[in-house]
Amino acid sequence: MCYQVIERYSVCRCLYYKHAIDPCPSHGQRGHGVQEKTVLVGYTCSSHSSHRPETAYAGVLPDSGYGSGAYPPAQQ
Ligand SMILES: [Zn+2]
Ligand SMILES: [Zn+2]
Repeated sequence: MCYQVIERYSVCRCLYYKHAIDPCPSHGQRGHGVQEKTVLVGYTCSSHSSHRPETAYAGVLPDSGYGSGAYPPAQQ
């Protein structure tokens, strides 16, 4: 089976680079398909990295001082 490596950003899944098809000996036969191999690279593309990529991990982070002024600290 021929395969084609497709690199995508691991966070936004935008296309990073599409490699040329790597043909196998049976390439060109009727009904012969090309298998895509997705390789994840980096984090986000340039158009998505402007949107604070750390927000993608905000739900995973524990309370590590991430308030950033949203609430006043310890108002008792
Ligand atoms: Zn093939
Ligand atoms: Zn993107």
